[in-house]
Amino acid sequence: MLDWYDAHARLLPWRLGPSPRRRPDPYRVWLSEIMLQQTTVATVIPYFAAFTKRWPDVGALAHARLDDVLHAWQGLGYYARARNLHQCAKTVSAEGAGNFPETTEELEALPGIGPYTAAAIAAIAFDRPATVVDGNVERVIARLFGVTETLPAARERIRSLAAELTPHVRPGDYAQGLMDLGAGVCRPRKPACGSCPLSASCIAFKKGLAEELPRRAAKPVRPTRRGFAYWAVRPDGAVMLRKRPAKGLLGGMMEVPSGVWREGEIAPATADADAPFAADWRPLPGTVGHVFTHFRLEVTVLAARLEGGHGMADGAVWCPPERLGDHALPTVMKKIAAHALAKF
Ligand code: SF4
Repeated sequence: MLDWYDAHARLLPWRLGPSPRRRPDPYRVWLSEIMLQQTTVATVIPYFAAFTKRWPDVGALAHARLDDVLHAWQGLGYYARARNLHQCAKTVSAEGAGNFPETTEELEALPGIGPYTAAAIAAIAFDRPATVVDGNVERVIARLFGVTETLPAARERIRSLAAELTPHVRPGDYAQGLMDLGAGVCRPRKPACGSCPLSASCIAFKKGLAEELPRRAAKPVRPTRRGFAYWAVRPDGAVMLRKRPAKGLLGGMMEVPSGVWREGEIAPATADADAPFAADWRPLPGTVGHVFTHFRLEVTVLAARLEGGHGMADGAVWCPPERLGDHALPTVMKKIAAHALAKF
């Protein structure tokens, strides 16, 4: 595995140390691992470059304004990660004088760092023999050992099999090697078993099951939630935005004022009850759809042109449409704004 890694390691910005065999900067490893949760390497690379240019170390990020961090995070989704990222930077700066702890236990005590991320940082940044099991590694181990039970139930067995293999020699490179193998060779479709360093011991390969594993239990159907968003336009063309409550989905992000998202059909009367203030709200044709991890969202946009005196929702700001990009609008809110601009 290590020989293969030495020859085939992916060149990723967070891995580039000052010279070969030097450990990478823990700040960069941590930042990349937080960004990579739920996000692909290709998407993360430009965000990683922008963040490290603007905030080159953990102290700089700790001193950033949360709004600036959320704004720079726009498009990566799962904004709780950005808030935890900022909180974690502050904690490491204040309690560790800018140094990340090295053990998985201490790392897990930090905001936004779960067992997987703690293991990845301990292994990659500090060369600790922590067992790192991301989706790629899970697939490699399931195939290598021929695990035919379905996920997620098989996860615990795969973890303990992976733990048995974790070496004490260069555990960080081993962890990254296994991740790279899963990403480039032991791919979900058409694994390149012919060029895999593990093929001689791989049960799935021997049994011709490689592409079938790991098996997954059928996914529960995503429910649909529905709600209203309110596009209020002032006589000078400015539109209303407001900040969502700090807790909950998209917490602390800016929004086109929105009502509650409810499962099932929603009664038209809800539109008035959820409105940020009373106005002549008219529905725009069509709806805006967005898929979150646990549900689909369908939003009907109501618009009102305000003449003279106008209402004002709590914590709201007025924004000219051409300045919408100045605000930390999550993707769903960008879609709502684009829909309103096109239809109203
Ligand atoms: Fe994956 Fe094939 Fe390698 Fe087995 S031999 S680990 S299935 S690429």
